[in-house]
Amino acid sequence: MRILLVEDDPVLAMSLMHMMQPHHSVTHEENGQRADYLLSTSQFELIILDMGLPDMDGSEVLRRLRQRGSNTPVMILTARGKLEERIQGLDSGADYYLAKPVNLTELEARIRALLRRGQSLASIPIMLGNLSFNKESRCAFVEDVRLDLSIRELQILEILILSADKLVNRELLCERLSEPEKVITHNAIGVYMHRLRKKIQISHVTIRTVSGKGYVLEKI
Ligand code: CA
Repeated sequence: MRILLVEDDPVLAMSLMHMMQPHHSVTHEENGQRADYLLSTSQFELIILDMGLPDMDGSEVLRRLRQRGSNTPVMILTARGKLEERIQGLDSGADYYLAKPVNLTELEARIRALLRRGQSLASIPIMLGNLSFNKESRCAFVEDVRLDLSIRELQILEILILSADKLVNRELLCERLSEPEKVITHNAIGVYMHRLRKKIQISHVTIRTVSGKGYVLEKI
């Protein structure tokens, strides 16, 4: 399970990482703005989010995440007694809050519960116009017609549809598709994009090239 932990208190972050790392793949970020960027470009199955963060507070990070249509479970961490923070967090779309100091046993139980919920949400398709992508089954459809896509094309479509109507950087695509043994170049991305574009031609969605920068998946 990929978990993003956003917490600027190094001692707390360290103890949470220590608890989660044997079981999950945990990414730690301490800055709100960078967490926002990471969330707009990467996929996580659970987000553990502190409210008071440098550059952008947790409730804003959460608000932006929900605005992008993400339903990834979010657990907010708030200082005990800070009722406003808690209400603000839940209002912005958090699934649960945990008071600081964090009780690690309670946190573990919560993680399990939220991950279970997240798994059932993964079966709800992400839609753009009449194009849909199902994360769990890794299938794409135009209305009821299943698209015959390669693994690479599916990977690209997933990244694009999660950032629908927004520019997806070419470098980011290269980075996300590259593997330790196989580096994906700009040219290769261009080839995959060409094939993917043809295959989604039957939909009301298109991939627009932003010269020298990247691609935008958008409705026609
Ligand atoms: Ca903090």
